[in-house]
Amino acid sequence: MMKISNAKTVDGKIISLEIENHLISKVTESSAIDEKNGLNAINAINAINAKGKLILPGLVDLHTHLREPGREDSETVASASKAATAGGYTAISAMANTNPVADTAGVVEQVYRLGVEAGYCEVNPIGAVTKGLNGEQLAELGAMADSIARVRIFSDDGKCVSDPLLMRRALEYVKTFNGLIAQHAQDPRLTINSQMNEGVISSRIGLVGWPAVAEESIIARDILLADHVGSRLHICHVTTAGGVALIRWAKQRGIQVTAEVTPHHLLLTDDLVENYDPIYKVNPPLRTEKDVWALREALADGTIDIVATDHAPHPSEDKDCEWQAAAFGMVGLETSLSVVVKSMIDSKLMSWSTLVERMSTKPAQIAGYEKQGRDLTVGSPANLFLLDPSAKWLVRRDRLNSKSKNTPFEGMELPAVITDVFYNGIQTISDSKVVPVPISNSLNLNFLHQGKDLN
Ligand SMILES: [Zn+2]
Repeated sequence: MMKISNAKTVDGKIISLEIENHLISKVTESSAIDEKNGLNAINAINAINAKGKLILPGLVDLHTHLREPGREDSETVASASKAATAGGYTAISAMANTNPVADTAGVVEQVYRLGVEAGYCEVNPIGAVTKGLNGEQLAELGAMADSIARVRIFSDDGKCVSDPLLMRRALEYVKTFNGLIAQHAQDPRLTINSQMNEGVISSRIGLVGWPAVAEESIIARDILLADHVGSRLHICHVTTAGGVALIRWAKQRGIQVTAEVTPHHLLLTDDLVENYDPIYKVNPPLRTEKDVWALREALADGTIDIVATDHAPHPSEDKDCEWQAAAFGMVGLETSLSVVVKSMIDSKLMSWSTLVERMSTKPAQIAGYEKQGRDLTVGSPANLFLLDPSAKWLVRRDRLNSKSKNTPFEGMELPAVITDVFYNGIQTISDSKVVPVPISNSLNLNFLHQGKDLN
């Protein structure tokens, strides 16, 4: 049994909470800090006095590049799981652009098993929409849905499903099992060799531009397709004010579209590219300040439903090179919450309870992760974490748990320090450090999807 006392919830209550057998077994509310209880808690084993700390349900990421199988030099399922738990995540979603591509039941099951073995968070595989991400033929969507990984989200992320007929077929196919197509909106013909946002800065420094319309034209097309076939559509990493306007329009018409924004697109702008530092090279690219403000406003009012990290690890040899040769992408699992706090809460655009909605409740609902994003009430799976909202921390790349260190926030002081994390009732972070999980957590193969036979 574990007891957490004197924790403050996002709606301002002071609670004590007990964890037993992977579940929240008891919650008591008190009107003020219970000093006595707190002191007892300090002295007891398996007790945390959370005075001054916020308690939140575990975060849920719907967009994570884990690189395994194929690029274990960048990241593995195990190292990404540790980075995820350090960032307050109790569930992540493994993108399909691995080598081999996750386009069959065999590959998604492999990734799923590696996640369970690691034991630090739920690892839910995303399946490819098309075979080999080649955009020509649908992958084995049904077989992946029926596998032990029970895939419900499909995406060719990294690439766009640019053929409108294939996109239509995919949307129709996944409707039968309430699946979701997550589109990486990038018209390939409008972005040939594109390197950064098309605008004043790309003209000045001579890099090939990536026009906003390349993203917006795909968003517009897919919204209309989703409406036409009555399917759910999810737009990955929206970056432009125009994209936000299209999604707002679609939602007003009742079209089933959801959308995500990354932490880096909420904080960073394309003028950072001026020194040709590839740490800022990312797909989709950093945009303008006007876009950043449109994204923040959209996340606050719910036009953009969720935050997703697009955690994209790359080893230094793929990043510490000339701009043109460098890989696209940034790591994000360990900085995500703090960057959202800095851009949304410190700027008074969003409350802590809305942050929980955007980073835990809603992503769990969109993906159908039943053990995630739950209220902190008796009977809920104990997926939760504590943070100190008044403390700050300095981002140091060599202290990240991710195998790759390509963070654009190096040297930045960020708000909110995560101190303790519980996944499946087991403490995975203590005093802001990863703790080894017991074998029982990592090999509890039936935990995630009870009743599924793993033979
Ligand atoms: Zn993408």
